Amino acid sequence: MSWNVRVDGSMCIGSGMCVGAAPGHFAFDDDTGLSEAVAESVEPDDAVLDAAESCPVEAIMVLDRAGAVLAPKD
Ligand code: SF4
Repeated sequence: MSWNVRVDGSMCIGSGMCVGAAPGHFAFDDDTGLSEAVAESVEPDDAVLDAAESCPVEAIMVLDRAGAVLAPKD
């Protein structure tokens, strides 16, 4: 049951919280300096949820296969 990870590049401010929380899942784009998901489809990993929760602008969204939002939670 894989998850879908999305980073909204129009919201990202390049804080690096996600790269620190889940370095295997997020990386900086060399050109823009903003974060992007290494892969949109990932196996369940709490580090991805932590990254989404730690993003200061909530630019990261993690969904399950049914489309339910797993993180960030309100
Ligand atoms: S934590 Fe959010 S604002 Fe910071 S680099 Fe990641 S996506 Fe961008």
